[in-house]
Amino acid sequence: MGFSLNKAVKPQTTELNRKAMVFSNEFSPIKRLYVEGKKERFSKKDLMVMLKSISKIYKVPFSMIKTVKLIKADRPGTTKRLTQETFNDFEELLESLGVDDYGFFEVTPERLFKGCGVPHKYALVFSSRMDIDAFKEVPSMECQLEVAKIYSKTGDIANKVATYLQSKGVGASPNHSMGGQLDYSMAAEWAGIAVTGRHSMAITKKNGPCHRISVVYTDIENLNDYISRKNSDMLWINDFCKKCGKCQRKCPTGAILKESVILDGTNPTRIDYEKCCEGFVNYGCGICIKECPFSNGNYEELEQAFLRMN
Ligand code: SF4
Ligand code: SF4
Repeated sequence: MGFSLNKAVKPQTTELNRKAMVFSNEFSPIKRLYVEGKKERFSKKDLMVMLKSISKIYKVPFSMIKTVKLIKADRPGTTKRLTQETFNDFEELLESLGVDDYGFFEVTPERLFKGCGVPHKYALVFSSRMDIDAFKEVPSMECQLEVAKIYSKTGDIANKVATYLQSKGVGASPNHSMGGQLDYSMAAEWAGIAVTGRHSMAITKKNGPCHRISVVYTDIENLNDYISRKNSDMLWINDFCKKCGKCQRKCPTGAILKESVILDGTNPTRIDYEKCCEGFVNYGCGICIKECPFSNGNYEELEQAFLRMN
């Protein structure tokens, strides 16, 4: 029996649910699980590339084990406020970890996946870039390795941030970038650092959709004193997407819908998850990231050109 992603993330969900202070309700969306059970068709060349890159991917399961330990270690904090000095240290830590942007939002039951809970009222959201060069040829082993690498990095970011906050007497639990208790694209939007594109991925100013999100739940009550992210100036992306549609045209499984739908809960989506999983089960995908004009890190240029034309 091969590696099961769903089984790997289950201990994290169990621990977060066990400590939940905020829990999903009848308006919450259903979590779409990864499709499993298909045998990968890797060539000998792919296997060699994988072996050569083992140092990039072996840390993923260890970071997940660490996440579960940190959730278990999370205690109600001795303080719910950050001082300016602690926040300055916190920002330095984020920079050293390679966080490109971050924000926060208040977790409400309908934002959580059905059957999921979290231990604290606020979610800190971190975005870190993937290497767009790895997406030149997709699907490919190089691209899969880059994705594995970013899961390791972003899982590590959530763990290190939670460790830091716990050491300062603040209640904090990490949520690994694999196996979120809520929709991470929407989390980036709620945190004011992104707008969700037609491909249902979070488009940030720095990285477009070529990044991954990790989350830390915390009970810090004065985040507003230090962090103010607003995405109202990014809403033009919605109009850009209506005219562009490249991801939809290039998607090999027809998984990107023309109009957004609300499948369940209250979050709109343009993805047919079952069809998207078809693109993933054998060899990964990533075509919509490669094709999205925002992946090239030229947000301002696209905005200026779009404004001129409209
Ligand atoms: S990942 Fe691939 S299959 Fe899924 S929506 Fe993007 S292009 Fe389509
Ligand atoms: S490829 Fe075009 S339509 Fe799709 S998300 Fe990117 S900008 Fe929007």
